[in-house]
Amino acid sequence: MIVDFHCHSSCSDGALSPAALLARAKDKGVEMLAITDHDSLAAYEDAALADYPGQMITGTELSCLWRKMSIHVVGLGMDRHNAALQAFIDGQSEAREARAIAIGERLAKRGIAGAYEEVKALAGERPIGRPDFANFLLAEGHVNNFAQAFDKYLGAGKPGDVKQWWPDIADAVAVIRQAGGVAVMAHPFEYKMTATKLRSLLQDFADAGGEAMEVYSGKRDPQRQQYALRLCQQFGLQASVGSDFHAPDRWRELGCDSELAGNISPVWERWL
Ligand code: AMP
Ligand code: MN
Ligand code: MN
Ligand code: MN
Repeated sequence: MIVDFHCHSSCSDGALSPAALLARAKDKGVEMLAITDHDSLAAYEDAALADYPGQMITGTELSCLWRKMSIHVVGLGMDRHNAALQAFIDGQSEAREARAIAIGERLAKRGIAGAYEEVKALAGERPIGRPDFANFLLAEGHVNNFAQAFDKYLGAGKPGDVKQWWPDIADAVAVIRQAGGVAVMAHPFEYKMTATKLRSLLQDFADAGGEAMEVYSGKRDPQRQQYALRLCQQFGLQASVGSDFHAPDRWRELGCDSELAGNISPVWERWL
C-alpha cells in the first residue's frame, strides 16, 4: 500500500493549495493520506477533500517543547470539530503571531529592519512560520540561499529561534488524545539529539500518552530505519510513515511504501 501521514499544504508552509496537494497525492497513488499542516487544521475545510479517492485521516503537526527543545508531534485521526482541540490550535496561532513579532525584533537588533511587517503582508491570514522569514532574508539579500537563512538566523540556537511560546509536549499529546486522535512523534532524528537524550524523549512521550513514532521521513537509510523500528519496539510505539512533503522537486515526494513499518504494528491499522 502507498500511504502518507505527514505532508504540508499552503495552509502552513507548503507550496501547494490543499486541492493541488490532493491532486498530486492522487497522482502518486496515495491510498491513505493525512495533511499535517503546522498547528493548523484549515486544509480540512477545503471542498476538494470530499472527492479524494483514497482514505483521508485528519492530521496536524503541533509545535511544542520538551526540556526547552522545540519538538513536533503529529496528531492523526482526531475529530477536527473537537472544542478543546480547536481552542489549542487557536492558541498556537496566537503563539505564532507573538513569536513572529519577537523574531522581527530580534532581527531588527541585528540591523535587519521591517521583517515582521513584510512577512505579515505576504502571509495575510495564514499563520507565519520561520520559512516566511527565510524567504524574506533571501529576497532582501541577507543570505544566499534558503538553507543559509536557517544556518545564520533562524535555526536552533540562532537569534530567530524563538520558542518560549510553545506548549509542553504533554499538553500537545493530551489534546490530541482527548479529541480521539493518536499522538505520533515526528521525525525523531531531526532533533539532532544524542541516543540517550532521544530515549529520554521517547520515554516521556510514551508516558504522556504518545502511541506512535515516524520510522521514515524521506531519507533512504536502512540502518537508521532498523534503529527506528527498534526504538518503536523498545518504547511500545506503533510505526507511522510520512514524506513531510512541502513542495514539488525541492522536497521529498509524496507517498511512502507501507512496508517501511517492518514488523512493527502500523498506526494506520486503526483506520483500515
Ligand atoms: P516553524 O514551524 O515556524 O517553527 O518553522 C519550521 C519549518 O521550517 C519546518 O517545518 C521546515 O519546513 C522549515 N525548516 C526548518 N529548518 C529548516 C532548514 N534548516 N532548512 C530549510 N527549512 C527548514
Ligand atoms: Mn514545515
Ligand atoms: Mn516538523
Ligand atoms: Mn512537517
